[in-house]
Amino acid sequence: MGRLMALSLIERGHKIDLYEAQGPQGEGAAAKVAAAMLAPLAESAITELNVVKMGQYSLKRWPQIIEKLHHPVFFQQEGTVIVWHRSDAPEARRFQGLMQKTHALLPSLSPAQMLDSTAIEALERELVPKFNAGLYLPLEGQLDNRELLTAMLDELKSAESRGQLTLHWHSPQDLSRFQSAIEPHSNQDPWVIDCTGMGAKTHWSQLRGVRGEVLRLHAPDVHLSRPVRLIHPKYPIYIAPKENQIFVVGATEVESEDRSEVSVRSSLELMSAAYSVHPGFAEARVLEINTQLRPTLADNLPQIQVNSSKLIKINGLYRHGFLISPAVLDCALEWIDHQSTDLAHELGLNVNRP
Ligand SMILES: Cc1cc2nc3c(=O)[nH]c(=O)nc-3n(C[C@H](O)[C@H](O)[C@H](O)COP(=O)(O)OP(=O)(O)OC[C@H]3O[C@@H](n4cnc5c(N)ncnc54)[C@H](O)[C@@H]3O)c2cc1C
Repeated sequence: MGRLMALSLIERGHKIDLYEAQGPQGEGAAAKVAAAMLAPLAESAITELNVVKMGQYSLKRWPQIIEKLHHPVFFQQEGTVIVWHRSDAPEARRFQGLMQKTHALLPSLSPAQMLDSTAIEALERELVPKFNAGLYLPLEGQLDNRELLTAMLDELKSAESRGQLTLHWHSPQDLSRFQSAIEPHSNQDPWVIDCTGMGAKTHWSQLRGVRGEVLRLHAPDVHLSRPVRLIHPKYPIYIAPKENQIFVVGATEVESEDRSEVSVRSSLELMSAAYSVHPGFAEARVLEINTQLRPTLADNLPQIQVNSSKLIKINGLYRHGFLISPAVLDCALEWIDHQSTDLAHELGLNVNRP
């Protein structure tokens, strides 16, 4: 969120100081670990309609954002395939029912399509004969988060060489440092924009971390061209293909702020579920097993908090940072320009003045 914000502000002619608690590689960011699936309809089974609307908006914005970057970023909108094992058909019907409700409320979203084995074969040949029923969500997308972070880093470095920005790595900041901007009705520069995710916990009392664990695999025997979700009552997983036969398999969701290494139980569940979708994962190589916390507010929804005329805090992106950040960005930029945002109202993004 912070990198997106910084680049947009530079483009608008602002001069920026960017402070990052860790180094340039995104070591401290949930954004580095994420699968970066852009799945508004599938996520509607577990989130609110406003997140779905922000996701739908952002799917159109990502290509425009990526187009401006000089470093290539993998982005595709080839849909998601959802499958389930026969015994989990009731859970699949429940999931489908939730998506139908979303579609009834938001008809501009393409509905989920039922797949038989022929249709599955046409989309993802290697899922047959294991699965003979599924769902296809045609408008869903994905991007390569690490390429995106690198591409944005390159842009930030070039802006620094042009004198538009100063980058401060390994510089964790405390908001109290920016006292003049925090005072109510301050008209002094600078603006302070806090996009520190879990780092904002000291001053955002309702913020909590939701632990997520993911695998990054190299699987030359697996050929999946789009994200695949497995419906399962206990171990729902997604498999998000990146370029070069790399697959991100995730993710657990644990109500805990424990950042320690992945547990044996979670590794077993993620690996077994992936293998149950495609036997080619048996010979995959485990490149990484990662844990990170999703910055989450009490209602599990994102929020822009405008504490004074010059301080904006953006947080609570939870498991939807990539899905919704372009929408959140545009609302925040509109706020900076006009001290109001119709877009946030339209999309249902909470802009809060405590
Ligand atoms: C396992 C997992 C899978 C996910 N999969 C998806 C997915 O498929 N699709 C999707 O849309 N989202 C996904 N997400 C969610 C997404 O990663 C987050 O919503 C998003 O990264 C939040 O963005 P952010 O910028 O608010 O926080 P972060 O990405 O965590 O970035 C915060 C940054 O602030 C820095 N910082 C912290 N404190 C300070 C300080 N005091 N001073 C300066 N800098 C500071 C940190 O070092 C970090 O770089 C996933 C998350 C996880 C953990």
